[in-house]
Amino acid sequence: MSYIIKGETGDWEVVIGLEVHAQVISAAKLFSSASTSFGSEPNSNVAFVDAAMPGMLPTINETCVEQAVRTGLGLKAKINHRSVFARKNYFYADLPQGYQISQYDQPIVGEGIILLDMPDGSVRSVGIERLHLEQDAGKSIHDIHPTKSFIDLNRAGVALMEIVSKPDMRSPDEAGAYLKKMRSILRYLGTCDGNMEEGNMRCDANVSVRPVGSTELRTRCEIKNVNSVRFVMQAIEHEAKRHIDVYESGGKIDQETRLYDSNKGETRTMRSKEFAHDYRYFPDPDLLPLEFDEAYVAAIKAKLPELPDDKKDRFMREYGLTAYDAGVLVAEKENADFFETVAKGRDAKLANNWVSNNLFSVINTRGITIAESPISAKNLGRLIDLISDNTISGRLAKDVFEIMVETGKAPDAIVEERGLKQITDTGAIEKAVDSVLAANPEKVAQVKAGKEALIGWFVGQIMKATQGKANPAMCQELLKKKLAQ
Ligand code: MN
Repeated sequence: MSYIIKGETGDWEVVIGLEVHAQVISAAKLFSSASTSFGSEPNSNVAFVDAAMPGMLPTINETCVEQAVRTGLGLKAKINHRSVFARKNYFYADLPQGYQISQYDQPIVGEGIILLDMPDGSVRSVGIERLHLEQDAGKSIHDIHPTKSFIDLNRAGVALMEIVSKPDMRSPDEAGAYLKKMRSILRYLGTCDGNMEEGNMRCDANVSVRPVGSTELRTRCEIKNVNSVRFVMQAIEHEAKRHIDVYESGGKIDQETRLYDSNKGETRTMRSKEFAHDYRYFPDPDLLPLEFDEAYVAAIKAKLPELPDDKKDRFMREYGLTAYDAGVLVAEKENADFFETVAKGRDAKLANNWVSNNLFSVINTRGITIAESPISAKNLGRLIDLISDNTISGRLAKDVFEIMVETGKAPDAIVEERGLKQITDTGAIEKAVDSVLAANPEKVAQVKAGKEALIGWFVGQIMKATQGKANPAMCQELLKKKLAQ
């Protein structure tokens, strides 16, 4: 399903590449032992090197290196045994060094791949260009004082992974799926929390357009620091349409950096784009090249968890789920774990139904996570057992589920308390069948005259008479027997 924008002069396609800045999960910063904890007093987590005191030397934090390698492996990427830190020079009030320590032509991770799970169940493959380690900057605060700005250096020097995709995406939906999949992989790996709203995963989108059928790459614009998946998708759509308008009216797109205004739903110029040579990159003389051997990589690889793609394949194989259902379950590891606890030793499709349809709809409506679910995996499993062993009917199970959501009680207790046990005693059901038949002689005559469809109506009446507790299969059977007489 391709995404095409109709213009006045013809059809256009959009070309998208994404850069993600992911904050590395690590107790200390990339080149200092200062804490990375969030929400501390301003300027309390600042080592001398973070404040760029003269003569201070950066020291690489091995945890951050491991996290970058782990992420590279999770993206099926080439791990470079030798990489080089470089200075990227620019002036910013919250960058006391006057340069950012980053990596330039020799990053720690090279080309990789990420698979996108599209809403229709299909899979799209997007190339990863590179991943490198770099420092975050501090923060300028302009809203405390009317005439003064303040600087907080707590974030200065915190490790970031900049992950750059190839320009392989062709629609806002693919960009959205890319960010969700990236976040999912980073969380599985435990290398980044992936909260865009909190700023520990940030996205820049590079957008250009071209006539359908063309393979050229036209001038792109970069939309900086968009802070939600939805806004990234909106910004791309808006930016693509802006390019088309400019081209169709005979204009030219300048390479530049733009900002997305989510209130107005439009992008606007932030600054004309710097080119790499503007930054005067050079290898940082304070740091040796970063080198490690294959054994180091192998040791990290040996400890990788099962990742979303593998889990999805296993769920399809072991539980017989569709690609779509498996993809939904594995997107968050906690959801996948919950499902597996419920499905263990039970009918997997039934388990998926109760988890993905019934429970997720409660979770989404309430805007909570599975960890805050009002129903535990154990209790949801018990509910399925009660259906499977005929203690309650599927219809009553829905009522029991609602009560579980409200009260958090175990299903057995609810069934007991409210007398919801299914009637499987033939005598009791027969009594109900007889009284319903006796009360509706004309309908009985109609069934006997061949109007079989009325049997369903009779089952409904019997369920009503027994408050939904009669076993429906037994009702059917008894009814047919009696009406055949
Ligand atoms: Mn960067």
